[in-house]
Amino acid sequence: MGRQGGSKMSFTKEQKQKYLENPEVCPFCGKEYLTGRHFNGSYNQAWREIECDSCGKEWMELFTMTDIEEQEDLWNQNGKK
Ligand SMILES: [Zn+2]
Repeated sequence: MGRQGGSKMSFTKEQKQKYLENPEVCPFCGKEYLTGRHFNGSYNQAWREIECDSCGKEWMELFTMTDIEEQEDLWNQNGKK
């Protein structure tokens, strides 16, 4: 009793895809009451802790940085040449 980490939910590929398409919605209860917390980063990884105000679940978004690219004329690409 009181053991932690035994019932962690792992997300399917479809669930992750759905979450990426609509990151404002809780993947557990489907409501839009999310509290984003601090964004943390270290070397090539970043993560964000999020809590759902509706069902109380907490989870982390994990990011891996693959590259940094310089962009020239980034703001002109959608306009005229
Ligand atoms: Zn929720």
